[in-house]
Amino acid sequence: MHDKTLAELARGLAAGDFSSRELTSSLLERIKRHDPALNSFITVTGEQALKEAEAADALRHKGEAGILSGLPLAYKDIFCTEGVRTSAGSKMLDNFIAPYNATVVEKLRHAGTVSLGKTNMDEFAMGSSNENSYYGPVKNPWNPTLVPGGSSGGSAAAVAAGLVPAALGTDTGGSIRQPAAFCGITGLKPTYGRVSRYGMIAYASSLDQAGPMARTAEDCAMLMNAMAGHDARDSTSVSRNVPDYTLGLDKPLNGLKIGLPVEYFGEGLAPEVETAVREAVRVYESLGAQVIDVSLPHTSMAIPAYYVIAPAEASANLSRYDGVRFGHRCEDPVDLEDLYKRTRAEGFGDEVKRRILIGTHTLSEGFFDAYYRKAQQIRRLIRQDFLDAFARVDVLMGPAAPTTAFELGSRADPVQMYLQDIYTIAINLAGIPGISVPAGLVDNRPVGLQILGPHFGEAHLLNVAHVFQQATDWHQRRPEIKE
Ligand code: GLN
Repeated sequence: MHDKTLAELARGLAAGDFSSRELTSSLLERIKRHDPALNSFITVTGEQALKEAEAADALRHKGEAGILSGLPLAYKDIFCTEGVRTSAGSKMLDNFIAPYNATVVEKLRHAGTVSLGKTNMDEFAMGSSNENSYYGPVKNPWNPTLVPGGSSGGSAAAVAAGLVPAALGTDTGGSIRQPAAFCGITGLKPTYGRVSRYGMIAYASSLDQAGPMARTAEDCAMLMNAMAGHDARDSTSVSRNVPDYTLGLDKPLNGLKIGLPVEYFGEGLAPEVETAVREAVRVYESLGAQVIDVSLPHTSMAIPAYYVIAPAEASANLSRYDGVRFGHRCEDPVDLEDLYKRTRAEGFGDEVKRRILIGTHTLSEGFFDAYYRKAQQIRRLIRQDFLDAFARVDVLMGPAAPTTAFELGSRADPVQMYLQDIYTIAINLAGIPGISVPAGLVDNRPVGLQILGPHFGEAHLLNVAHVFQQATDWHQRRPEIKE
């Protein structure tokens, strides 16, 4: 059962081939057996999962099951889950039990899904390798000496290893797409505002967006149907009709105009990744698409702009962890200042502290204009680059990451790590949607093809990804896991 897609499992449940309880307990067994080596979960909620599965089975007996009823999922540990620890991968929140559910969690629960638990992540979603977690690094199921990517590395590894058929991640600068690429699964970052951020622990609020991580585009479409939509509790969520994302998946692609941004095929791109991506583009040509070279001229400024804006927002968002209201508190503070200082010194890891320092600096008087305002101006230009490109083409394609998964511990220099985000970060600055789909294996390391579309174009992106998955079998490859 662990090899099946969500869509296949939904059919199996509907046909009565197995119950949600059977499915859930077999996955919980797999987690018990395989997760100690992978470290993809921070918290497994086994008892609660079995209760939810039984409830889903009961509904099905009454003929009231929906399409997602009884399907197991996992949540990146950044989504608040009522009564369950929600750590954001940080010592600061190691003792935090969320008092309510994030809107997406609530929606997926309401749709009948079963939560197996909370997945590992870089602390406060800051990172590209999952090595910044208080709970230790996640291992890539394709090879345990490699990182799974980050920051949603636990979700990606758990899906790739067949511990859960799908999981939720968040993407502020690539954290759904890059780990999806490194682990050989499909991950969608929706348009900013498409999915509610309520109850998602904030990193950089103008960039954060939740999305599905699964084996196939079809599975992502099924989840998006439940996740997307306006939420009165998130003032940045957009009030706009939600299409049925599963309806247009099979639409033929003849006449599709694909833009290849020249800046995404330049220096820094590993040759084996380029070869796989160009091969994938040839598959699209054979399906009737037309390929056009385009330019996104401000690409080289995306990393500097992002690493000003994201830390600035993070420094403000993370000021709430002061030891007073919730989370970690230092022992025996002598006064208020001591409480703040020691609580934050003990509770945050190095990367989080680095970001808070950068953000506080760029927002301070005398530096605001030079850094923050400048970065916002660049953000505007980057967004315009995409709007100009989408006036000429339907989608853009390129690599999700410049390399395949790298060795644990091999990127100790933070700037080297930030360069991982070169092809993903501009997408968040522009607010557009992007998807990574498996498009090759090099030395047993997956390669991700990234497909980008205009704002609210996720239905089309899912269609473009799905048709590719009907023509190729990269998404069906599985890492070898000793049973
Ligand atoms: N790697 C980027 C960062 O560290 C993006 C992380 C993310 O998307 N959450 O900020």
